[in-house]
Amino acid sequence: MEGRRVAVGWAARDPTGVLSPYSFTLRDMGPGDVMLRVLYCGLDHTDVHQMRNEIHMTIYPLVPGHEVVGEVMEAGKDVEGRFKVGDIVGVGCIVGSCGECICCKSNREQYCSKMVFTYNGIDVDGQPTRGGFASTMIVHHKFVVHIPKKLAPEQAAPLLCAGVTAYSPLKHFCGEEKGLKGGVLGLGGVGHVGVLIAKAMGHHVTVISSSNKKREEALEHLGADAYIVSNDAREMDGAVGSLDFILDTIPAVHSINSYLSLLKPDGKLLIVGVAPQDLQVSTTALILGRKTIAGSFIGSIADTQEVLNFWEEKELKSMIETVKMDYVNKAVERMEKNDVRYRFVLDVHGSDLS
Ligand code: NAP
Ligand code: ZN
Repeated sequence: MEGRRVAVGWAARDPTGVLSPYSFTLRDMGPGDVMLRVLYCGLDHTDVHQMRNEIHMTIYPLVPGHEVVGEVMEAGKDVEGRFKVGDIVGVGCIVGSCGECICCKSNREQYCSKMVFTYNGIDVDGQPTRGGFASTMIVHHKFVVHIPKKLAPEQAAPLLCAGVTAYSPLKHFCGEEKGLKGGVLGLGGVGHVGVLIAKAMGHHVTVISSSNKKREEALEHLGADAYIVSNDAREMDGAVGSLDFILDTIPAVHSINSYLSLLKPDGKLLIVGVAPQDLQVSTTALILGRKTIAGSFIGSIADTQEVLNFWEEKELKSMIETVKMDYVNKAVERMEKNDVRYRFVLDVHGSDLS
């Protein structure tokens, strides 16, 4: 214990999910580890699900945050040549995996059964992992990526979860094909980067939103080609059978059958949103048209580096609202009210964490 460093951050203490200041001891550095000073961290809806114990047995106190951009403070001896002090780096949703299973050996470590979540997992020292709502993190270098030089660190933060969550299924299920007709269901943190990425991949993109409020932004600022309000029967009817894929980002129970009807034959519903209860599927909606419902969880570390490089190359720009840590509970409240365009990013280093 002696000589271990103390990190200061904010934690949820119980299923109310309210965050408050919390300090904890970091584990010792290993030769393959990187210690980073957290600069910025995105606020993802999964953080809220976890803080409230909605999806995964939450270990309290919980320090969330898995869209972490930081500056390397220290690098273990095995990390030489890969990272050095002062590098700007990123950490996404996972910080460990077995390294030996079929998933780990094929760049799909996010599906490893021994995968360790960035927070609410169990670290190598047996203690809970803690995320980026804190001053400092120690992470094995295999789970750390480089932030490209031209990307502002706060801009890069949402890519580490939201970005790769949209990029990976589009790459996996649509491959190199261009000009597909795609839908993005739910225009939030994941959805808005999904629109930008799908457009930059060369697809025609329709936003399917629960209200008309985001129409102008989607078409004018995010470059979407079309916009449908999901409870407008006329607009939905007009789009039946028109889409090759839909990226479903809704964080709640919803009826997927009406969205299946928007797909062309052989169309794919790609689910990334986490519904706290099971969804119901009409088998006929699925069978008639040979439709596919697929799920996708973030992306691999290689995908994460790829989406960062893709973002830089295509000169994309996410729409974020940067706030200090003492605003985080309000940010959660506003996110839940669908009142953010489109991602809160916490200025962790610029905040008084005490
Ligand atoms: P978010 O910023 O809150 O966006 C979700 C969007 O869905 C909202 O902006 C809203 O868009 C729509 N929406 C919200 N509540 C709804 C409801 N009750 N019914 C219908 N539509 C609703 O959330 P996010 O951070 O993008 O995360 C979205 C979901 O993806 C969450 O469940 C999160 O846990 C999950 N997620 C999964 C992965 C993965 O690896 N699979 C990774 C990251 C996040 P409109 O205003 O356009 O309707
Ligand atoms: Zn594995």
